[in-house]
Amino acid sequence: MENLSKLAKRIMIKTEKFEYSSFMVGTILDSEIIEREDVVRSEFKVKGGEPIKSEITKELSKIIRRKNGKVISLNKPELNILVNTLFDEIELSSRSVFVKGMYVKNKRGINQKKQRCKQCKSEGCKNCNFSGFMKLPSVENEIQKYLKKKFNANEIKISWIGSEDQNSLVRYKGRPFFAEISSPMKRKALFREKKMNHGIIIKSAEILRKRPTIDHGFIMKAKVNFESNIKDEKRIKKIEKYFNDRDISIYSMNKRKYFTRKIISIRMKKKEGNRITVELVCEGGINIKKLVSGENEQVEPNFRKILRIKCSVDKEKPFDIHYVKFQESEKKLKT
Ligand SMILES: [Zn+2]
Repeated sequence: MENLSKLAKRIMIKTEKFEYSSFMVGTILDSEIIEREDVVRSEFKVKGGEPIKSEITKELSKIIRRKNGKVISLNKPELNILVNTLFDEIELSSRSVFVKGMYVKNKRGINQKKQRCKQCKSEGCKNCNFSGFMKLPSVENEIQKYLKKKFNANEIKISWIGSEDQNSLVRYKGRPFFAEISSPMKRKALFREKKMNHGIIIKSAEILRKRPTIDHGFIMKAKVNFESNIKDEKRIKKIEKYFNDRDISIYSMNKRKYFTRKIISIRMKKKEGNRITVELVCEGGINIKKLVSGENEQVEPNFRKILRIKCSVDKEKPFDIHYVKFQESEKKLKT
């Protein structure tokens, strides 16, 4: 068995790749060490009357602090060092870093989220290279790849602020997202606009000081294209009048209950034949396709109901997102 300074040396080599300002040492001792306490005390050169486990931990922390010049933090260390004498292992894990960013999508036909593998239902199989996800381009995949590299991390979890259709564009400043970077080796990063594959751009990003709250509401502006066999423009104007500043009732299938969101404004932009374009400003959480089509009456009232004629979003260009911004009051979502 090696003594503590040798162990500390091994730890220093392992921690070299990590960026951190504070650390904590934890130990898992095998029963032999505890049983042969007296022998171990002399071997490890540990004095004092505290239990052997805390003595070793304390001593080791002090030696490491002398070597790396970082702060010992038992509360929220950036790096956790776990010494397991049973398996002669040193396990390192670092505290998550949280990022807020904005993305733009300039190409249609790209999913926002990764799609679960249909073969194995995300269990992992040969078809999906044991990832559980289909090999399709997605915004999620691109952001994850980018952040993995930036922070030298293996796992990135993204929280979305609303979602768009596969065939939607996200334009201008883009849509916000939050990401949790688990056990990163790097903790600092400079961001600038970054073009990814498939017309996806990370417009901006910043590191947050703490875990973000992601349940506050947002407002978005979308350009909606829909088809309807309306001859009379006056009837379309009826939508403007009716939906301006109106509460919409939405039925959530998952939660099996209703919630309310507001349409702030709606403007008719263009009508070409059967194709009508409107500019919609509304609170996040309204399913735009269902607002237009009235499908399953999950969104009430809806365009179909008010116009009393079949309406459906354009399949190729259903709606494009012009902006998504947080509600200033940080209104919590009521669902
Ligand atoms: Zn699979």
